[in-house]
Amino acid sequence: MKDSEILAQLVKLQEIDAEIIGIEDSKKEFVARVNGIKAQIAANSAEFNGKKSKLDEARRKKAAIDVEIKSKETEITNREAQSGAVKTNDAFKAMQNEIDNMKKDIKKFEDQQIVLMEEEDAAHIWVKSQEKSMKEKEVAMLDDIKKLGAEAATKDSLIAEALKKRAEEVKNVNKLWYERYEKIRKSKGLALSPIIEGRNGSGVCGGCKFDVRPQVIIELKKGGEIKTCSNCARIWYLKAKEEASR
Ligand SMILES: [Zn+2]
Repeated sequence: MKDSEILAQLVKLQEIDAEIIGIEDSKKEFVARVNGIKAQIAANSAEFNGKKSKLDEARRKKAAIDVEIKSKETEITNREAQSGAVKTNDAFKAMQNEIDNMKKDIKKFEDQQIVLMEEEDAAHIWVKSQEKSMKEKEVAMLDDIKKLGAEAATKDSLIAEALKKRAEEVKNVNKLWYERYEKIRKSKGLALSPIIEGRNGSGVCGGCKFDVRPQVIIELKKGGEIKTCSNCARIWYLKAKEEASR
């Protein structure tokens, strides 16, 4: 088989490989969008759970303070009940002092309660308003994920089709050159690179912009030996005239 025929087969193979890369790239886009939506859902629910636990905490604190107030009140009632048994004036004063202090404590607790109640109200309003809208948003986002997943699955079947086409094409490719092609493809993405022709007969490698001598281009046009770039190792080919002028 002539080198020019081998090269033509490799070009055909690369067209399929480029197609596969294109499909894979668009699939990556869908996957990235799905991941973005998932991250958004996670962020929303983290925010919601944060507020919710703040609300729970405010309620817990309030309940604990209620207990404190109740116990102080009970203590005050008990002391007042004992006041009849107090013998001296000093003892009575001391007891009265204690009761006053406990009343001050109760006042402090009540002030704390007011702050907590405000926190609780704000958190409660937010949680209530978000609960419904967040669920709705989440349903819509999960729906988007499903649609994007279906798009990605479509891409998968396109890739599978292209791979089948590729397997058929590989059968026609010279074994030795196919191995070289694969080796380069695995390290460079695409194994073939077009020569971009300049005006003076010379050109540059489309893969790495390395200079290509006019002699190489002349030989390729004559259908001579396959040439590879000494800089990037890609296999050179010439684009068809109408394609090159586009
Ligand atoms: Zn090159």
